[in-house]
Amino acid sequence: MATDERARVEAQIEALFASYPPADMPEQQFWGAQYDHGLAWVQFPEGLGGLGVSPRWQAEVNRRIEEAGGSIRNRFNNVLGIGMGAGTLLAHGTEEHQRRFLRPMFTTEEIWCQLFSEPGAGSDLAALSTTAVREGDTWIVNGQKVWNTLAHLAKWGLLVTRTDPDVPKHAGLTYFVVDMEAEGVDVRPLHQITGEAEFNEVYFTDVHIPDDLRLGEVGEGWSVAMTTLMNERVAIGGQVAPRGSGAIAHAVAAWEQTDRDDAVARDQLLAYWIESEAMRLTAIRAGEAAKRGTPGPEGSTAKLHWADLNKSITSFAIDLMGAEGMTYPQGYAFSRPDLTANRTEDPHKAFLRARANSIEGGTSEIMKNILGERVLGLPGEPRVDKNVAWRDVPRS
Ligand SMILES: Cc1cc2nc3c(=O)[nH]c(=O)nc-3n(C[C@H](O)[C@H](O)[C@H](O)COP(=O)(O)OP(=O)(O)OC[C@H]3O[C@@H](n4cnc5c(N)ncnc54)[C@H](O)[C@@H]3O)c2cc1C
Repeated sequence: MATDERARVEAQIEALFASYPPADMPEQQFWGAQYDHGLAWVQFPEGLGGLGVSPRWQAEVNRRIEEAGGSIRNRFNNVLGIGMGAGTLLAHGTEEHQRRFLRPMFTTEEIWCQLFSEPGAGSDLAALSTTAVREGDTWIVNGQKVWNTLAHLAKWGLLVTRTDPDVPKHAGLTYFVVDMEAEGVDVRPLHQITGEAEFNEVYFTDVHIPDDLRLGEVGEGWSVAMTTLMNERVAIGGQVAPRGSGAIAHAVAAWEQTDRDDAVARDQLLAYWIESEAMRLTAIRAGEAAKRGTPGPEGSTAKLHWADLNKSITSFAIDLMGAEGMTYPQGYAFSRPDLTANRTEDPHKAFLRARANSIEGGTSEIMKNILGERVLGLPGEPRVDKNVAWRDVPRS
């Protein structure tokens, strides 16, 4: 079976490269052809960017594209779409949604953002208050979202709203795809510690969303949102980068430039290198184990570990740089990057950006709660609002 799969993937790679040499094509055109050859998300069905084979082959496809001089940066430039939106559309969208949205998402012709967090509902996402009220075949949306990565570039947003305040919080939610160019959508930048504004706050004032842009049933937005979040954790924590790349590459580079050669620092660098490699191999193993469909709570393990490790290694690299590590030569000038700064090659920016790793995509405390309750089977937190209508839950 695996040999069959390998042969199919190989044949598609060869066919793709024969007609679309990765190094010589405009990126978007290549990504379109990659999608059409079923090599966008190999585990997706044929006709929707996949071949219906094990997701483990994707790493091989990506490696071959980069080796041939092509780019896989669409996965980072459209991380909310490709990393999280695609899996959500596959699990909960209609075939029409899938055919309409997946290809331009993969080519980055249409950037996506995630509109979940609110000022009063981040970790407690189900407490959100942005409302959607039905009027015939249209929903009227009002409210505010916050920390929305790439919303300033996005054509489409993944939006969770409250459609029924008279039932407990998880039961009254409905999930939509929203056109970010619709009237009443106001995107405002938020300045980050790096100086960049990669995320935003988004206000909705009487925004009209047609009912055919709903994902899942009315009132079942929570389970759709869970699909997005599980994909998010895998997308954030489960990326399989080449050996020795990412944060550990910064640390090794800083080590090579330092005149410090004490055994303690060397030992620490080695320990981080080994931990990075163990994490990389674990991500590969988890990827192999994952079957098509919604990823499980293992994604939380990867997310938790990645956030801690990334913070520690980027701090260590800055320490190795000595006094130079204390500066921020490029300054804090406001700019709006077109991809998330996690992939930066600059150790100063990487250090500052890594501070967000234990917050974005669900905080480390929440990851620990998920692991405690869902993996280890420990008693859950007391939930005082479980059977109370959302309208009656006290809020500040
Ligand atoms: C760089 C970045 C990008 C982001 N991008 C997006 C995006 O694109 N779209 C989007 O919708 N959101 C995005 N977020 C928001 C992110 O998902 C939230 O910030 C996160 O879920 C935490 O919510 P909060 O900020 O409201 O903090 P709160 O929920 O108020 O938490 C504050 C603190 O209390 C702790 N805490 C809360 N509840 C518990 C509990 N039950 N047990 C233990 N500890 C608890 C938290 O861990 C945290 O330390 C982004 C955030 C960052 C930093």
